[in-house]
Amino acid sequence: MTARKILFTLAFFVVWSLIMPQFVSAEEWVSFPAKKDVAPDKVWTVEFNTAIDPKTIHSEDIYVVTVDGKQLFMPSYVQEDGRSITVLPPPDGYEPGQTYTLFIKKQVQSANGRSLKAGYKMTFTVQRSATHQPEDEEVLSYGTVTASILNVRAEKTTASEKLGELERGDVVKIYRFDGYWAEIRYHDQIAYLHKDYLKLRKANGGIVEGLNIIIDAGHGGHDPGASDRGYNEKEINLDVADKVQHNLQKLGAHVLLTREDDTFLPLKGEGSRVEFSREHYGDIFVSIHTNAAGNESSKGAETYYDSLKDDNVYEGYLLAKNIQEQLVNMAGMFDRGVKNNNWTVIHYNPIPSVLVELGFITNPSDFDKLTSPAFRQVYADAITLGIVNYFKEEVK
Ligand SMILES: [Zn+2]
Repeated sequence: MTARKILFTLAFFVVWSLIMPQFVSAEEWVSFPAKKDVAPDKVWTVEFNTAIDPKTIHSEDIYVVTVDGKQLFMPSYVQEDGRSITVLPPPDGYEPGQTYTLFIKKQVQSANGRSLKAGYKMTFTVQRSATHQPEDEEVLSYGTVTASILNVRAEKTTASEKLGELERGDVVKIYRFDGYWAEIRYHDQIAYLHKDYLKLRKANGGIVEGLNIIIDAGHGGHDPGASDRGYNEKEINLDVADKVQHNLQKLGAHVLLTREDDTFLPLKGEGSRVEFSREHYGDIFVSIHTNAAGNESSKGAETYYDSLKDDNVYEGYLLAKNIQEQLVNMAGMFDRGVKNNNWTVIHYNPIPSVLVELGFITNPSDFDKLTSPAFRQVYADAITLGIVNYFKEEVK
């Protein structure tokens, strides 16, 4: 062989092996090493070195065969990366102890129209008992999905491979948290869910234990908010927020105040109330305000959610409803109802977020409550119970 021929041959093999190594064999089927003790709900992901044409994925080309020759066609789909085929287990799972062979027929084509030179084949045996299931690990929390569809991710980023989807009301076991990401098991794999769309409940402990609750005392610093007869909204809001924090901490929650003193924070953007909530991986956000009107007759409490935000609208509504109920029941406030408005602090906050108006500083009866240290504790107790009741409420 001339040097040039050798070079060509070498280049040919390099390109060939880069593009489709499993197509090299002249055999009808390329066998992959057998796998033992796979979980009954094992999801197979077969990776190819080239993009697969999803239109060439037909259920009759992807199937398993049992040792006694029974053939089962498998639900399969091409992953978002375009290069892997995911083969889902049968609806009731594989039979424990049974041996199967998975076939992917060569009718599957790459995106550039080439067929496989040979099919793909792999034998696997299903475990007899679930002795080494990851379920043996300690469950930290339970999470109920609040989004209509929640993607299950392979890694802690929305850019990672999507392993599947969960629906509103689905409950998952959570083994640990890392920022926004909740680690779960999806079939037998480690997987992640974004916790903005999970209603959390500690596996052992109180209803709000371990939750990140963000309490926002409205206004502050150069912005006093509403004022009347020497009293400022910013001071009332902060006092009630402090008391809510104290209450919830006693119940085991991790409570963070957007401001702890008389300082001003912007609503959104850098150093803002919304950013604070995101930076601390808040589970819910409650902004506390005091109302004012040009007349003395306007009175009562109202709690806002925002129907125009992208996420957790219904959860925001439920949180508002539960808090409003207690402002009426416990604090005896006139019921102005649950209201809908796209206030900045709740609109740009993806987690369930509400804005509470305790009462009108310009109304004599509300004024007495808002300026009484004892009654501020009642407000705080009402907000606390509203939050607890929200977390008690089942996701429907
Ligand atoms: Zn205000």
